[in-house]
Order: sequence, then structure tokens, then C-alpha cells
Amino acid sequence: MASITLNNIVKKYDDGFPAVNNVSLDIADGEFVILVGPSGCGKSTLLRMIVGLEDITSGELQIDGTRMNEAAPKDRNLAMVFQNYALYPHLTVYENIAFPLRLAKSKSGDSTGGANGGSNGGSRGRSLGGAGGGSVDDRVRKAAEMLELTEHLERKPANLSGGQRQRVAMGRAIVRQADAFLFDEPLSNLDAKLRGQMRSEIAQLQRRLGVTSVYVTHDQTEAMTLGDRVAVLKKGELQQVASPRELYEQP
Ligand code: ADP
Ligand code: ADP
Repeated sequence: MASITLNNIVKKYDDGFPAVNNVSLDIADGEFVILVGPSGCGKSTLLRMIVGLEDITSGELQIDGTRMNEAAPKDRNLAMVFQNYALYPHLTVYENIAFPLRLAKSKSGDSTGGANGGSNGGSRGRSLGGAGGGSVDDRVRKAAEMLELTEHLERKPANLSGGQRQRVAMGRAIVRQADAFLFDEPLSNLDAKLRGQMRSEIAQLQRRLGVTSVYVTHDQTEAMTLGDRVAVLKKGELQQVASPRELYEQP
């Protein structure tokens, strides 16, 4: 787990207009922050800057107090969960979940999976206690068990339901023992029933793993049930940060 600190973060794309403007936010170790705001307000841009898929124009990103603006994505040890799953269609559920571990292993030769990444040592890559420790196989099976995917391990994504695919995507994030999860509207493609089910599963996982999360959603129920705090972004600027209760129950 890790804290994430944003200090006056600005993102300007080529048109020079700030897509994210002067955003400052302290996300505590283990905290679940919901990010809401109208389409185009900069939510995805902010997540992508945190995870390292997009350069930060100015300002500073810190993970556990260390500046990470220049760190490669793999050295940030954050896991992103997208709405479109991003699973490999030709791989089984097992192989999809194991993929980040195998990738890290083949790069580093680290027999524990090497998912700790991080060139800055220190507290990076601590075990989450959930699917932590053990061999690749142990970790994949433990994550699959948590997500009720054990009986589907040999299936391909095409043969899974939307909810199951979403769980595979989360399994992949869990086995990496990431320091934080970044969710970009992970449930928005699911029907209402599945969304409700997945919402409780994420809430349970969060309780069990206590992992720092930033979660983009348009869904007020998700914000109410999952969030410790809700950050409201508008035209690239942070308008308000409040508890779900304060935000949604105000007159
Ligand atoms: P969202 O669901 O976050 O609203 P969008 O549909 O706005 O996503 O964007 C989808 C993808 O298109 C993103 O990867 C984003 O970077 C890219 N994108 C969005 N707006 C622009 C733009 N004006 N120019 C180039 N790429 C864009
Ligand atoms: P959200 O996720 O809240 O829908 P985005 O972060 O996708 O918002 O977009 C914020 C702003 O940045 C929008 O005006 C969008 O058009 C612009 N934008 C996003 N991605 C790109 C990109 N790759 N190139 C240029 N402009 C972009």
C-alpha cells in the first residue's frame, strides 16, 4: 500500500488548454477515493498521469513521499483496472491473471514474480496479505479463489460473462501486489444486477486488502458505498473533496 500525493498537477495537451489544472490531493495509505465529474473534465487524464501513461506538464506526483513524475509505469507499481477489461483473448483466465507476474519474472528473473518493481526500494511492494507471497501459481489460485474464478481458470475470456471478465481484470491487479489500484469506470459496461454484485465484491476486497484506490465513476451508489472521500472534478479543476455523506446528503 502507498499514499499518493498530487501537488498542483497540471496537464496540457498539444492544444495548450489545461485538461487538468492545478489539482492537489493527498490520498492516504489505504484510502478509497472516488473521482467524479462530467465527461471531459479530466478524470482519465488524471488517472493516466498517476499510473504513468501520460506525462505530467507541471506539478508533482509523490508515491509514499517520493517524487514519481519521471518514473516508468512499471516502477510505480500501481494497477489500473479499465472498463473494457483489456484481457488477452487467446489466453485462459489463469494465464491472464498470471500474465503480469510472468512478465515481471521474465524481465527480472525474480522467482517470487518480481512484481514489486520499484527502483526506489523502501516500502514499495509490500505484501497486501491478500494474494501476497508464494509462487506465481499460489498467488494466481489465491486471487482466483477470492474472486470466485477457480472453476473458470481454464476458460478463455470469450466464454465468460461480463462480470467474470471484470473479475479476471481485478485478479490481475491483485496478484501484482500493487501499491494502489486505479479504476477507470470499471463497472460501467455491466448490467445493473452485475454491477451491484461487483460493487459488493469490490467493497469486500477493499475491506480485506485495504489497498489505496482511486476510482472513477458516474454512479452515485458506487461513490456512496465504496468511497472514503469523493473528489469532484470540473473543467480540470478540483471543485470539492468531501465524504460521500457530506456530498450527497447536502440540501
Ligand atoms: P472517457 O470515457 O474518459 O470520457 P473519452 O471517450 O473521452 O473517454 O476518450 C477515450 C480516449 O480518447 C482516451 O484515451 C483519450 O485520451 C482520447 N481522447 C479524448 N479526447 C481526445 C482528444 N481531444 N484528442 C485526442 N485524444 C482524445
Ligand atoms: P474524462 O475522463 O473526465 O472524460 P479526459 O481526461 O478524457 O476526461 O479529457 C479531459 C480533456 O482533455 C478533454 O477536453 C479531452 O478532450 C482532452 N483530452 C483527453 N485526452 C487527450 C489527448 N490524448 N489529446 C488531446 N486532448 C485530450
